Amino acid sequence: MKKLLPTSIAGSLPKPSWLAQPETLWSPWKLQGQELVEGKQDALKVSLQEQQRAGIDIVSDGEQTRQHFVTTFIEHLDGVDFEKRETVRIRDRYDASVPTVVGAVSRQKPVFVEDARFLREQTDQPIKWALPGPMTMIDTLYDAHYKSREKLAWEFAKILNQEANELAAAGVDIIQFDEPAFNVFFDEVNDWGIAALEKAIEGLECETAVHICYGYGIKANTDWKKTLGSEWRQYEEIFPKLQASNIDLISLECQSSRVPMDLIKLIRGKKVMVGAIDVATNVIETPEEVADTLRKALRFVDADKLYPCTNCGMTPLSRQVARGKLSALSAGADIVRKELLI
Ligand SMILES: [Zn+2]
Repeated sequence: MKKLLPTSIAGSLPKPSWLAQPETLWSPWKLQGQELVEGKQDALKVSLQEQQRAGIDIVSDGEQTRQHFVTTFIEHLDGVDFEKRETVRIRDRYDASVPTVVGAVSRQKPVFVEDARFLREQTDQPIKWALPGPMTMIDTLYDAHYKSREKLAWEFAKILNQEANELAAAGVDIIQFDEPAFNVFFDEVNDWGIAALEKAIEGLECETAVHICYGYGIKANTDWKKTLGSEWRQYEEIFPKLQASNIDLISLECQSSRVPMDLIKLIRGKKVMVGAIDVATNVIETPEEVADTLRKALRFVDADKLYPCTNCGMTPLSRQVARGKLSALSAGADIVRKELLI
C-alpha cells in the first residue's frame, strides 16, 4: 500500500559552511574546480542523509549543487550575458542587479542531469527535483532581445522541457517548477503563464509539481507580507486555471500564513503539497502544530492527495534549525497518519 501523507521539502536546505557562506542567498562557493564538484556531491549526500534521518519520504538534493534556484540554471544557457547587468524590480517587490538576455536563448547541454543521476544512485526512495518556472525565470532577468515577457517565457519553457525530459530519464520521480511569480502577476499567469508551464511539462513520463509561495524569509518578503492584509487570497486568482491544467501536484505556503485554507477547494483533484513548516522564522514548529495545519487542510483535500511539505526553501536558515524543522514535519505527519488509520 502506498504510504499516506508522504513528506518532502519544498526546496533547499542550508549548505555546509565549508561549501558556501551559510544563512546567505546567492552565497559564493568556497571551493573551485574538481574540489567544488566533489564538495557539492558530499554536501548532497549530507543533505540526503539529514532528510532520511528525519524520516522524509520524498527526498531531494536540498539544492546543494546550485547557488540560487533561478540563476544557476540560467548561467548554463546561451543568450544571457552575466557581465551585462541591469537593475530590475523582482516580483514587483525589490530591486536587484540581474543579467541581460542579449540573444536567442538555448541550452547546449544538460544542466542538472548529472547531479540528479548522482542523487538517484544514492537512494531507492522517490526523488523530487526542482527547476525554476518560466515566468519566475523571466522575472529574474533584463530582456534586451525578445522585448516580450511572454515570448521569452515560451523560449524558456521549451528549454525547461528538454531538461525535464532528461531528468525524468535519469530517474527523477517528481519534477517541480518553482513559480513564486505566479503569486504576483495574475493576469499574465492566466494569459500565458500556465500555458508556458504546460509547455515545460509536455510529454513528461514522471509526475510534475508547481511550487507557489510567498518567498524565502528575507526582509523584502516579510515586509511585503505585512501589506497583504488579514486574508491572503492570491491563490484564488490562479487556482481555477491551475485546476484545469495538466500539473499533478501544487505546492503551497500554509503554515503561519494568512491563506484561507478553504481556497484549496479550487484545485480539487490535484495533489496538494501543504506547507506545514514556516521558513521565515527560527522557531521550530512542534509536531502538534504541524499536525494541526495538516488536519485543517484535510477538510478540503482527500487524504490520499495530501503531501506534507515546507512553505519554501530553507537555505537562509541555520542547519540546526532546518534539521529541527525536518523532524517536526515528519513527526507532525506521523500524528495525522495514525489518526487516519484508526
Ligand atoms: Zn518558495
